[in-house]
Amino acid sequence: MLLKQYERGRTFAIRLDYGTDLLEELNKVCNQENIKAGYIQVIGAVSSLKYGFYDQYAKEYIYTTYAYDESMEIVSCSGNVSIKDGKPFCHIHIVAADKKGKCVGGHLVQGTSVFAGEVIIQEILGEDLIRDLDETTKLSLWV
Ligand code: ZN
Repeated sequence: MLLKQYERGRTFAIRLDYGTDLLEELNKVCNQENIKAGYIQVIGAVSSLKYGFYDQYAKEYIYTTYAYDESMEIVSCSGNVSIKDGKPFCHIHIVAADKKGKCVGGHLVQGTSVFAGEVIIQEILGEDLIRDLDETTKLSLWV
């Protein structure tokens, strides 16, 4: 186990623009504001959705893309910010529902188009929170 303690830093409220890429926008804000560690919560809707599922045996992501005529509701979308390759990096998971309430979700990747989005980012301050390759899982984990 790795345990580090942090203090609360700045809190940001962000309204995302229609048609932007959800993950790109989150990474852009964290890089612009130099948010090195924190947590993120998003609600809203998307007009297309792309997420990954990490195959623990093959040790690789499998990607799924949904493109609906109608927007999907973001039921839950949260994650964290840490440092990867020397710059702020958002690790985000998303669950989205279609009009019948059927949900899909996973590890958010580029390719998810915002219909509307409201974001809260809470910065946390303290020791650097850095990601590096974990040999067991082959994931980039906190070290
Ligand atoms: Zn993930």
